[in-house]
Amino acid sequence: MAKILITRKIPGRATDMLREAGHDVTVNPEDRPLSQEELKKGGAGMDAVLSQLTDKITKDVLEAWEASVKIVANYAVGYDNFDIAAAKEAGIVMTNTPDILTETVAEHTFALMLAIAHRVAEADTFMRAGQFKGWAPELLLGTDLSHKILGIVGLGRIGSRVAHHAAKGFDMRVLYYDVKQNADFEKKYEAEFRQTPEEIFREADFISLHVPLLDSTRHLASAGRLRMMKPSAYLVNTSRGPIVDERALAEALKDGAIRGAALDVFENEPAMEPLLKDLPNVIVTPHIASATVETREKMGEVAAANIIAVLAGEPAPNAIG
Ligand code: NAD
Repeated sequence: MAKILITRKIPGRATDMLREAGHDVTVNPEDRPLSQEELKKGGAGMDAVLSQLTDKITKDVLEAWEASVKIVANYAVGYDNFDIAAAKEAGIVMTNTPDILTETVAEHTFALMLAIAHRVAEADTFMRAGQFKGWAPELLLGTDLSHKILGIVGLGRIGSRVAHHAAKGFDMRVLYYDVKQNADFEKKYEAEFRQTPEEIFREADFISLHVPLLDSTRHLASAGRLRMMKPSAYLVNTSRGPIVDERALAEALKDGAIRGAALDVFENEPAMEPLLKDLPNVIVTPHIASATVETREKMGEVAAANIIAVLAGEPAPNAIG
């Protein structure tokens, strides 16, 4: 009987799947992330770990686990919390949960984009404060998405799904920047490739970020690039917080250098740049872009399936690296 640690309680059938496969499963009994020390101790002697994106799986954590752990399955598609090189060295398989959360994150991106353009949160606050005194021609004027220019940065699974909704649902013109050009996508959606992020920041009415967090993407939305945006433009980030220079974004919003922003992720989670809190032209959600019941259950099932495969001596369906 193999031993498995689940670092935090997750919804759905994942725990039962692992137990039904004959494994001995320990779930962190508290609804909070484990500390680095708890992670090291908790995983030592285990055969597999089902980790959260808040768990930093660093070289020293992997060294504490390498005598027994064969696989670490992340409950996320992003894996910037993993030291992949150290895992390779330790011979530990690392996996993620691609594809099954693409639709949900694309939906949340659109929820944010529509909400900021149509001032939904501001209007809700206005109503609840009893400020609505009757219809007025200039009350809470927003911006249309339809026929505007959407700039996608990172045209992978999620970025291309967001672009699909934009092109098919809102007749938006799609521009994209990625390290790889995608001719089939361009043909299907009449999308246009741009060689540099600067071109996207200058041309787009809405910019949506979908790159993974890497050294090359940290602060991709830098102070300089944010100041290249049109004053009427919006920035949406459902990727990872450090991709945006959050302080520079708050300053650009405060100065009116750009019209608005919608953020699901933050540079120093769970903290948020304090300047953002009082700005009306920002919508913030607490890293919930994949948080629907359906998707969170599927993410657990995918992570469990990866663990079951590796412990049965089979290849992991979603191995990274
Ligand atoms: P993906 O790998 O399919 O797409 C990423 C794209 O970025 C690829 O097309 C890749 O070529 C491109 N890219 C990589 N480095 C680049 C660079 N330096 N410049 C330009 N493009 C670059 O990944 P995905 O499934 O679409 O997920 C994207 C990211 O979204 C994840 O890595 C994760 O961090 C984030 N995410 C966040 C949430 C959330 O809850 N907010 C949920 C899911 C995913």
